[in-house]
Amino acid sequence: MLGKLGIRTARDLLYHGPHRYEDATTVSAIAKLKPGMDATAIGEVVSKGVIPTRRGLRLFQAVIRDSSGLIECSWPGQPFLDRVIRKGDTILVSGPVRFFHGRQLQPREFTVLARAGEPAEIEGTVFPVYPATASLSHRQIRALLRENLDRLLAAVDEEEPMVPEAVRQRFGLPEWRQALEWLHRPPSLADAETARRRLAFEELFVLQVLYAKVRHERRDLREGIAFERLNTLVRPFAASLPFELTAAQKKVLSEIGEDMGRPRPMNRLLQGDVGSGKTVVALFAALRAIENGFQAALMAPTELLAEQHRNTVGSLFAELPVEVQSLRGGLRSVERREALARIGGGEAQLIIGTHALIQESVEFARLGFIVIDEQHRFGVRQRLHLIRSAGVEPDVMVMSATPIPRSLALTFYGDLDVSVIDELPPGRRPVKTVLRRASARSKVFEFVREEVAEGRQAYIVYPVIDESEALDVRSATEAYEQLSSEILPELEVALVHGRMSGDEKDAVMRRFVAGDVDVLVSTTVIEVGIDVPNATVMVIENAERFGLSQLHQLRGRVGRGAEQSYSIVLYGGRQAPDRLQIFSNTNDGFQIAREDLRLRGYGDLFGARQHGLPEFRFAQLDKDEDLLFGAREAANAVIAEDAGLARREHRALGQALRTRYREQLQLYEVG
Ligand code: ADP
Ligand code: MG
Repeated sequence: MLGKLGIRTARDLLYHGPHRYEDATTVSAIAKLKPGMDATAIGEVVSKGVIPTRRGLRLFQAVIRDSSGLIECSWPGQPFLDRVIRKGDTILVSGPVRFFHGRQLQPREFTVLARAGEPAEIEGTVFPVYPATASLSHRQIRALLRENLDRLLAAVDEEEPMVPEAVRQRFGLPEWRQALEWLHRPPSLADAETARRRLAFEELFVLQVLYAKVRHERRDLREGIAFERLNTLVRPFAASLPFELTAAQKKVLSEIGEDMGRPRPMNRLLQGDVGSGKTVVALFAALRAIENGFQAALMAPTELLAEQHRNTVGSLFAELPVEVQSLRGGLRSVERREALARIGGGEAQLIIGTHALIQESVEFARLGFIVIDEQHRFGVRQRLHLIRSAGVEPDVMVMSATPIPRSLALTFYGDLDVSVIDELPPGRRPVKTVLRRASARSKVFEFVREEVAEGRQAYIVYPVIDESEALDVRSATEAYEQLSSEILPELEVALVHGRMSGDEKDAVMRRFVAGDVDVLVSTTVIEVGIDVPNATVMVIENAERFGLSQLHQLRGRVGRGAEQSYSIVLYGGRQAPDRLQIFSNTNDGFQIAREDLRLRGYGDLFGARQHGLPEFRFAQLDKDEDLLFGAREAANAVIAEDAGLARREHRALGQALRTRYREQLQLYEVG
């Protein structure tokens, strides 16, 4: 039963921390509860039952008693609690007290502290509440820990901590044993928080040690290519550009240039909001590799984006003597063979493609530089695969238009150095964002009609309503049918959704890019990178179902040309949720990402599993930034002194690293 919770060893049990605490210091005597209060109370269940209401809703009620008096507790719509809460149980409830045929408490939360007949002995004043399963209740876990905690802690005394003593002291953290004790048996809520922070630091620290090792290995040990500044291609390219680079572009180019000049492999993340001009920067770097006699590869997440890059390069490199080769998924075998021959023979200098680039059959002659666009769509594994296929250690730049706070960057891309383009090219008009109630929809479509009459295009996006995608496809499909036949019959309306094949999607998108479609109705498949400067309206339906970052990505699809663009956010209900207010108040992607992290937490935001990283049990990136930055710094210092983690005080750390990140160590080929 413990195994279902991932608990196999004594240590696992010790690290099975409560997900919340109930604080009995705030418990009120039942006689003192008054309507209007928000209160916590503890009492024994003296009677209980399920009661039907007039509106057909069944509610569960229990009367609890302490030494001061009785109160009725009521859970509307939760008749199943009748099987959970038994007569004679001691329960803790917290929630609002109101007047309803007498005083009544409506618990927001409840905890069964003891079953009928069990001693309701409540140690300390803070009760830990543990994550549980159907077969193992949090009470059983609490009992298990209460009975065994001292023995478990005694075992901890025999072991070295993962966080070396010197580091622990520097950051003013409690000792390991103390933290584990307070985790389960905190004298106060503040002590429980202190314990959590100590264990959070440990989690962050071990991960940062992994990254420090990877970076140390690459930066100090592995041989890379030192690209010289020959300027035979870079200078003519600069001269041919119809615009000046922004200061931010120049800044990141000099960071990248310095890296490329060193005889060590570069591994850099280039972050910048949509439209900030990352592609141009990537092309500068690619040209530097090419003028040094190497090949450069540009990998995009979809065929359409690869094609878009192909077109950009085609026009920007019109005057340059550079051989560009694209490698698409669906090539006929003759074409494919030819393409592979040009890549393997070295005639192809800049190779643009999708995942097709990382197939076994692709062999590069002299791949020296790799750009990966929209990094979050690829895993670390794919990035490393492409690197391996080069033969030499190429310089690698990954680009992301999803702005993320520094804390997330250090956690997800901690093996990379980070450059940020924090400025848009001049002359861009910020997208105007407006919030509208869904009932204003017909006016919004009227506006779409006017914009199209001016020669522009529009997107109308529908959310994923159901995990299965069946429902969102239906809502988009129904909307498409209504729009095309009833609401905007005179316009060219097209539909694209996630159930279509890649080719079908690309075909529709191509018609939109070409301007043959006025209004594109879609699910969120258009989220990534597509660039249609003539599109000026982004209507987002049921916006309350989107995350902040996702909304921002969608907004980034417009405002790419010279015309004023609009993002119109439709929400159900009477009032727009705070999230949408935040969205309409700022265009700053980093600020939005920060808010998103605060609102959703990191696990949800990025899907840690997809990145092969464990979810944190204790660390909360939105509030533990200080710990993270400290852990990063401490990890660098430890690796600088003792890269092999051979010293006695680092042995437990090395052990933890090998246990937790075995796969990653292999993946990065770090010993
Ligand atoms: P990103 O990839 O960061 O979304 P792009 O590289 O696609 O942005 O650039 C968006 C548009 O801006 C492109 O049409 C590009 O040619 C143009 N652009 C890039 N840098 C500048 C600049 N410094 N001044 C004006 N336009 C620029
Ligand atoms: Mg781009």
